[in-house]
Amino acid sequence: MMPYGLMNNLEFRFGRALSFSFDIQHADSNSLARVGTINTPHGPIQTPAFIPVGTKATVKSVLPESMKDLGAQALLSNAYHLYLQPGSDVLDEAGGLAKFMNWPGPTFTDSGGFQVLSLGVGFKKVLAMDAQTTRHDDVIAGNKDRLAHVDDEGVTFKSHLDGSMHRFTPEVSMQVQHQIGADIMFAFDECTTLHNTRPYQVLAMDRTYAWAIRCLDEHKRLTQERVGKPYQALFGVIQGAQYEDLRKKAATDLGSLESNGQSFDGFGIGGALDKGQLGTIVSWVNQILPENKPRHLLGIGAPEDLFVGVENGCDTFDCVLASRIARTSAVYTMEGRFNLSNSRFKRDFTPIDSECDCYTCTHYTRAYMHHVFRGKEILSATLATIHNERFIVRLVDQMRQALLDGNFADMKADFLGGYTHRSGQSRD
Ligand SMILES: [Zn+2]
Repeated sequence: MMPYGLMNNLEFRFGRALSFSFDIQHADSNSLARVGTINTPHGPIQTPAFIPVGTKATVKSVLPESMKDLGAQALLSNAYHLYLQPGSDVLDEAGGLAKFMNWPGPTFTDSGGFQVLSLGVGFKKVLAMDAQTTRHDDVIAGNKDRLAHVDDEGVTFKSHLDGSMHRFTPEVSMQVQHQIGADIMFAFDECTTLHNTRPYQVLAMDRTYAWAIRCLDEHKRLTQERVGKPYQALFGVIQGAQYEDLRKKAATDLGSLESNGQSFDGFGIGGALDKGQLGTIVSWVNQILPENKPRHLLGIGAPEDLFVGVENGCDTFDCVLASRIARTSAVYTMEGRFNLSNSRFKRDFTPIDSECDCYTCTHYTRAYMHHVFRGKEILSATLATIHNERFIVRLVDQMRQALLDGNFADMKADFLGGYTHRSGQSRD
């Protein structure tokens, strides 16, 4: 029996390096898709996988046990929101995000870059997905009412909760995310919109690259300083909007970036994504990024977009849409998306989706769901969220199985043949 202290020490020396890894089990011969496993200190994630969003350390209206039961492998929370409330130091004291919210699995945190800027400049929650719209940098600069100011060092912003002033730099974002303690963190980036001009996209990309180096350095320092904590992986974020040369440059630069011996453990594909070009943009990036590291497509989660992401080489996805639309009575089904509050469901005693195996579909009818939505009952949000999250988690699991079985193209054609509804990118 090894003395406890020595064992701990060995675990620290050897366990940390081994506690995050990505294994590819199968690569599709017809596309960039792959099937793999991301191993984290809180358990594995079988990929491709959809990661449900619990922005403020809770998937709104649903118990963590229910999220586990419906097949969620990991949850993604947001550093910006948790920093403001309850404070990242509280999560540190609680033993980290997973323990704090009673979630028995891996967790991710978004860096806060998107939120600082989106809440600061008053972006809509659904980013503009139309690259044809007039471009103007006033959406970022010059607006007298905006709550965020970006400079080369970081972002100064006003809290949307109480108006207090705060400043995020790459170092602060790393400190906040280390305190929150998620297994996978994202580097602090400047997120732009499709409305920004090309010169501004170049400026934001250069800034994101400079910030990436500072994130790696601070991440390394904190990893060494916070002895005994499980290893937290850091993903770099690829920007470049809809421009091929910018996206490829970002993927080349960040994919090979190493600072003081530290490189990124994986990558997030972020920034403004023109929906019509989603597959093209993602394939530019994924043909360049190192094959042996996982790739996360940020804020994408509509069914038709998930197929595009998977076939173009993305491993994980997050999106707040599944739960957000559920609270407004909108549900995904194999036939498409519809609203349960619609009067045609008043006497419909069938499940939301007859092919769905979720708790809601196996216990409740559309008529009951219609009733709780019309009556504004709290239960409506819980039951509809369970269905929507299960629908999306299962859809991506089915894509994984189809890749292993070699029939992804047929599965995609079958699904999209019956499914009608298109919706945008959404982060919270
Ligand atoms: Zn269901």
